[in-house]
Amino acid sequence: MHTANAYDTEQEQLILDMLDRFLAVEVQPHVHKLEHDDIYPEEIVEKMKEMGLFGCLISPEYGGLGLSTVTYAKIIERMSAVWMSISGIINSHVIMAMTVQRNGTEEQKREFLPRFATGELRGGVGLTEPDCGTDLQAIRTVARRQGDKYVVNGAKMWITNSMYGNCLALLVKTDTQANPRHRGMSLLIAEKGKGFIVSKKLEKLGYKGIDTCALNFDDYEVDASRLIGGVEGKGLQQILNGLELGRINVAARGLGVAQAALSEALAYSQTRKTFGKPICEHQAIQLKLGEMATRTEASRLLVYSAAAAYDKGERCDAEAGMAKFFATEAGMENALEAMRIFGGYGYSKEYNVERLYRDAPLLLIGEGTNEMQRIIIAKQMIERNRV
Ligand SMILES: Cc1cc2nc3c(=O)[nH]c(=O)nc-3n(C[C@H](O)[C@H](O)[C@H](O)COP(=O)(O)OP(=O)(O)OC[C@H]3O[C@@H](n4cnc5c(N)ncnc54)[C@H](O)[C@@H]3O)c2cc1C
Repeated sequence: MHTANAYDTEQEQLILDMLDRFLAVEVQPHVHKLEHDDIYPEEIVEKMKEMGLFGCLISPEYGGLGLSTVTYAKIIERMSAVWMSISGIINSHVIMAMTVQRNGTEEQKREFLPRFATGELRGGVGLTEPDCGTDLQAIRTVARRQGDKYVVNGAKMWITNSMYGNCLALLVKTDTQANPRHRGMSLLIAEKGKGFIVSKKLEKLGYKGIDTCALNFDDYEVDASRLIGGVEGKGLQQILNGLELGRINVAARGLGVAQAALSEALAYSQTRKTFGKPICEHQAIQLKLGEMATRTEASRLLVYSAAAAYDKGERCDAEAGMAKFFATEAGMENALEAMRIFGGYGYSKEYNVERLYRDAPLLLIGEGTNEMQRIIIAKQMIERNRV
């Protein structure tokens, strides 16, 4: 797995060493079965709770570890190199938690952050609907105020952590007539209860083990005190800030997958022989390995640099977008190249390479598709370089 490198501080290294031991002992031996039988990794999640990973970015004032985003990215990179599914168990949970930490009222922070940090309350973000994902302003889930409650009706689609988790940051319309549309959008802290219905666990190409579901809200009631920030109409902006962090997470996953594919290919190509020598001595294979290693290292630099910008509180949508776009394409390309290097064995369920190949495409789509990332990057470049 990973060795200490020039980017690691001493404190980070202690945490990452602990994580590496956990991944090697508690996760790696079980991945094959959990993945192929599509089993939710309950024991692994319990250990992740004990390690405090659900509170990794939450401030110590509210019971979290208060790690930097750079360290968080390295945690996600390492997890994804072993089994990408477990990184998803904390990703959208962390976005929910940080949305409350950044935008919540003091009362909301005191009530929810300590419970998010321990994993007692666990979940993610409920944004996407059957008819819209990229165009979030088109959502149709409505929350109508009735006295001191909101009554929610609508449907959500592709919501990760919604079957085994118990809470979501839920994007709703509190004013369906607002113009512009985003002024009528709000975020609610939605704990499971009557009318919050998990209608179906969705079958996926990869990213197995973790639960991604379709949801229905049928006169689901939420206390009005759970409107994040206490003011209606801020929900889209609140969640878009959270998605910057989500993009860094997905970029780190792409990096982990790219690194895993490279490591697998490096090892295999030294043992597999054709025409009397290991295939790594054929130049055609060396060209692939050279490109895979370069893509991986370039991804690493982009991911850590976007995470460092986020830690400084700088506007970093272009940087997070570049890291997400480049590192996830690197994950996809490296997975395919690793499959070619493995020959027929790359297509076998006995090896990790086919899992990497099934996991990688999700990263091109989630947290803003790579088409949208390129558009975001271009718009930012134009804005920063006005003539
Ligand atoms: C396994 C999995 C887990 C997920 N987990 C979650 C979750 O936890 N919470 C959640 O809320 N969502 C989740 N999603 C949903 C995910 O965020 C969306 O699928 C994604 O945002 C894309 O939305 P869409 O699928 O509706 O595609 P669409 O928005 O319909 O886009 C379709 C295509 O059109 C392109 N496109 C759209 N608009 C433009 C434009 N203006 N310019 C150029 N191209 C455009 C897109 O890039 C894409 O190629 C998950 C999805 C998957 C597959």
